Amino acid sequence: MSDEWIDISVPVRNGMVHWPGDPAFHIERAEDQDKGDQANVSRMSLGVHTGTHMDAPVHYIRNAPGIDAMPIDAAIGPARVIAIQDDQSVKRAELIPHSIQRGERILFRTKNSEHSWSSDQFDENFVYISRDAARYLAECGVRTVGVDYLSVGGYRNDGPETHEALLGAGIWIIEGLNLREIEPGDYDLICLPLKLDGSDGSPARAVLRRKS
Ligand SMILES: [Zn+2]
Repeated sequence: MSDEWIDISVPVRNGMVHWPGDPAFHIERAEDQDKGDQANVSRMSLGVHTGTHMDAPVHYIRNAPGIDAMPIDAAIGPARVIAIQDDQSVKRAELIPHSIQRGERILFRTKNSEHSWSSDQFDENFVYISRDAARYLAECGVRTVGVDYLSVGGYRNDGPETHEALLGAGIWIIEGLNLREIEPGDYDLICLPLKLDGSDGSPARAVLRRKS
């Protein structure tokens, strides 16, 4: 069915995977009907780069805008899902044949969507965007880039360089997508981070609908 919205967010729950060194997610009942309280009210603690989330320019660039400054249409509108064959990183040579256009919202579906989310252990070998491909995306002038694990940059390679190349070019970043159910092609995207004042990132809910 082409008119159905498909959830591409990951569940947020105790024990879920997080970036090494970032705060773990934790939620618990602060008020609990089972303990005589009138209502159930939960309290949570988390890093703002938990699960499916967006990065703001200030994540890597001093004094740059926070997530509350994101133009709403950076993450709502047409988006293209590109399947990446390389099982190490997204590389410029694999992107060139896709004729990426200025203003596009591009989501990369890699082997991460099949493998990395099946475990609560952090996958150090996830497919990331190489710094060279990040610079190419900046040259193309894309609006938004989405990836299917916890960072656009690699665990060992190109972490700061890829973030700086994208964020420095004014590209908005969605991380932590699960694109397992998604075929490559054209979609409508809705992704909304919380309006966290000046924050370097925020959890978000993201959904896609196939263009008919
Ligand atoms: Zn992030």
